[in-house]
Amino acid sequence: MSGAPFGIYVHWPYCSRICPYCDFNIYKHKGESGDDLTDAIIRDMGYWREATGPRTAKSLHFGGGTPSLMRADQTERIIEAAGKFWDFDPDIEIALEANPADADIALWNLYAGAGINRLSLGIQSFDDAVLKFLGRDHDGTQAARALDIAVSIFPRVSADLIFGHKGQTLKDWEADIRRALSSGAGHISAYQLTIEAQTAFGRAAKRGDDKAVDGDNSAALYEHSRDMISAAGFEPYEVSNFAKPGQQSRHNKIYWQSGDYAGVGPGAHGRLTGNGDRRATVSHMTPADYIAGSMGGMSLCESEVLSPEDHAAEYLMMGLRLTAGISIKRYAEISGKPLAPQTLQGLGDMDLITVHGDALSATPDGRLLLDSLIRQLLGA
Ligand code: SF4
Repeated sequence: MSGAPFGIYVHWPYCSRICPYCDFNIYKHKGESGDDLTDAIIRDMGYWREATGPRTAKSLHFGGGTPSLMRADQTERIIEAAGKFWDFDPDIEIALEANPADADIALWNLYAGAGINRLSLGIQSFDDAVLKFLGRDHDGTQAARALDIAVSIFPRVSADLIFGHKGQTLKDWEADIRRALSSGAGHISAYQLTIEAQTAFGRAAKRGDDKAVDGDNSAALYEHSRDMISAAGFEPYEVSNFAKPGQQSRHNKIYWQSGDYAGVGPGAHGRLTGNGDRRATVSHMTPADYIAGSMGGMSLCESEVLSPEDHAAEYLMMGLRLTAGISIKRYAEISGKPLAPQTLQGLGDMDLITVHGDALSATPDGRLLLDSLIRQLLGA
């Protein structure tokens, strides 16, 4: 059995509207009850339990898609089933990603009653024009109201913002950050708008209609958010994530620290370490295939053992996103060969990384150039 931290990811793939920048595994919600999907997820957790053996879960995360379209009894059934398959850490994080348009005091109180103790709220912006540009189905007033409701119900709340859309000024961005800071949420995520080829924004970019700011402006916006949110007492513990003490995302830290996670629901990814191997899995992508697969005892469409090189590259790519960085020793154990001392020296001289004992971390400048930094460390 692996000693890696363990969590459970539940993918709820339905969305009431498809946002033009989104490349997740999502499907338009057409009034499905989701009960057959809930049954399939519980069956799938049973298969995962056979693979993981007894483990203690530090997190259970409902992501999507839009899990705030779930009924509370569906979340409750999944939480109860997970608690039968695995032990729960006394301090387990049970989180749900919510859309402000779904804010409902009665429903969210039922979520809390079912065991959900953290809400990650997809605010994106408080500005009506920006939300319209991003194709969201909520406005600024709904965003502010949803955040206030979330903070009044859940002990841990993340306000998730997006920056870097075309035309955004530092002043606009500052207004969004200021509103999130004043809400009482203990966690803020500030994600940069990225344009993926297969999305509506990607197709627009191909026609010459760019929807995102250019690189220099984007770096200025990023640095501004980092400075402003840090100055308000939030620790910038990951490239895009800021937390007050005790408010870091325990589930995402399992990803960034290359822990193990059961990935259930359509298109969910999982990782499992054991017997010297690390296995990467993907579930069937469509809800129909996933439900049918789960009935036949096979919810996965991919399951492969990662090579030591791929495992080490993943450890580096995920771990260097964290301010705390990675363990140089663990990298060498995973990859079978140490990081090149001359590369470490060169990157240190350029003030892109720091090495303290066994800990290797990217400096704030290094985090702005993370992709290139990782390529150099991997010798690619
Ligand atoms: S609500 Fe979230 S998951 Fe759904 S389409 Fe929009 S960005 Fe993607």
